[in-house]
Amino acid sequence: METLTGLRGLDKIIVPIRLTPQSKFVFQCYPGVPCFKLCCSDLFLPLTPYDILRIRDYLKLSTDEFLLLYTEPFILPRSKLPIVRVKMQDNEDKTCPFLIEGGCSIYEVRPLACRYYPLGLGIFRNKDERKNEEVYYLVKEGFCQGLDSGTEMTVEEYRISQGIPETEEPIKEWAEIIMKKESLGPIEVPEKSLQLFFMVSSNPERFRTFILESKFLEIFEVSEKELEEIKDDDLKLLQFGFKWLKTVLFGENLIKKKKEAPSVKKIKPF
Ligand code: SF4
Ligand code: SF4
Repeated sequence: METLTGLRGLDKIIVPIRLTPQSKFVFQCYPGVPCFKLCCSDLFLPLTPYDILRIRDYLKLSTDEFLLLYTEPFILPRSKLPIVRVKMQDNEDKTCPFLIEGGCSIYEVRPLACRYYPLGLGIFRNKDERKNEEVYYLVKEGFCQGLDSGTEMTVEEYRISQGIPETEEPIKEWAEIIMKKESLGPIEVPEKSLQLFFMVSSNPERFRTFILESKFLEIFEVSEKELEEIKDDDLKLLQFGFKWLKTVLFGENLIKKKKEAPSVKKIKPF
């Protein structure tokens, strides 16, 4: 079970209790808490494609600038798919580059994994019911004094209070791709497939250029409406990208090929 949100901390204890949206837990975190900011150092902090868009826009950077300044490539441990994570600073505590005296400098657009903490999210495939299921769990780290004190709330109340549903919704299909790859087990993945996944996952500007300036539009059916959306709207571009990845990686045929498409070297699915 790939747990993007659970990768965030190091040296942690995952409480082996499966939580549902209605499960209750006790937690409080605020700027005056004695452990304030201790959880923002030495992290494997993964970024979803939507995190990248939001933080990039907040910082008024191009995607290339943002990736170069603040991220590094990272291979997800179970699916072996390449994504990016936040590059910790080269100081003694390896602090997050977005951490400042008063706390998180990008709090408004903080990554999904930061919003979840101290919860983790896992998605797994229920083969009997042939559907994906989400499970939540608590991540306990010794330094965090917010656990077991303060307000009791349900997992869903916590998710809403942290703006998680609206941050998570745009990347649901992306998470499905990761989970599907993981469920296929340790199979060798062609380098080209990994590059395509990495491009869509990390750099929408490059993906847009790829669509508009390669033979893409000669090969795949893209309606006028879709094309306009792809040109103007990063979120629509991402949604299109996830469908295209499912098409080329898993043969799901969500983006159809043109009948008269020029013959090109077949991209092997996983
Ligand atoms: S992005 Fe913000 S909340 Fe997340 S680790 Fe960095 S400083 Fe902390
Ligand atoms: S360690 Fe826990 S209580 Fe302390 S700032 Fe981080 S999340 Fe909040």
